[in-house]
Amino acid sequence: MDLLYPPVCPLCGRLLTGRTRRSASACRAELAPRYEWRCDRCGAAGVGAAPENGRSCRLCPPSGASYQGVLSVAGYGERVARCVHLFKYHGRLEMGRLMGVLMVERLAAPLGILGRRIDLIAPVPLHWCRRLRRGFSQSGRLAAALGAGTGVGVDPCLLRRIRYTRAQALVPRERRADNVRGAFSLRRGAPVRGRGILLVDDVVTSGHTIDECARMLRLGGAREVWVASFARAGMGRGLQPGD
Ligand SMILES: [Zn+2]
Ligand SMILES: [Zn+2]
Repeated sequence: MDLLYPPVCPLCGRLLTGRTRRSASACRAELAPRYEWRCDRCGAAGVGAAPENGRSCRLCPPSGASYQGVLSVAGYGERVARCVHLFKYHGRLEMGRLMGVLMVERLAAPLGILGRRIDLIAPVPLHWCRRLRRGFSQSGRLAAALGAGTGVGVDPCLLRRIRYTRAQALVPRERRADNVRGAFSLRRGAPVRGRGILLVDDVVTSGHTIDECARMLRLGGAREVWVASFARAGMGRGLQPGD
């Protein structure tokens, strides 16, 4: 069988042989690049010149944001996008497992620094209708992996998506905040008062979705909200302000 269909990496099409045989290992370096620093304030990672002591980086949350920062494994490059796409839209669950493994591997250290500021992990929810069609929740799977890898409890139903929204990627930039406004609600009696919550999503782009989720958590009394994502648009290049 292998002679007729030689195994190729699903991300780059390269032939997988011998030790690169395991899923996507040939592309691993690009899925989980090594960064030189993480921003003290928000946890974004970068290479090259780091922000000066205590200064904001280009990806620090805008003033008025409800979340403190976003810890991510990779920028949203071509192969990363392909990996996420195979997982979400083609049901390639092994891609999701790889993403979960890499999140635990790369985010354990920065999450360790946050330590007791994180009491509970919760995924950014899908609308039930989309979840039914897809058969699984990608953020739910990643949240479960992160919980198992860090020992922090996971509450998969802390937030609900109460309004069906268009995918943020299909909405013009200036309308993305409105697109998700009021789209989420906190489960009645959710145990968030005074606690630090780690929201989990597969990809963070404009940040409007996580900000709206974080806003609901803060309204419910959460002390602080951090975010962990596999990919983050704009991460990985220099992160000095004005770059
Ligand atoms: Zn590859
Ligand atoms: Zn920052």
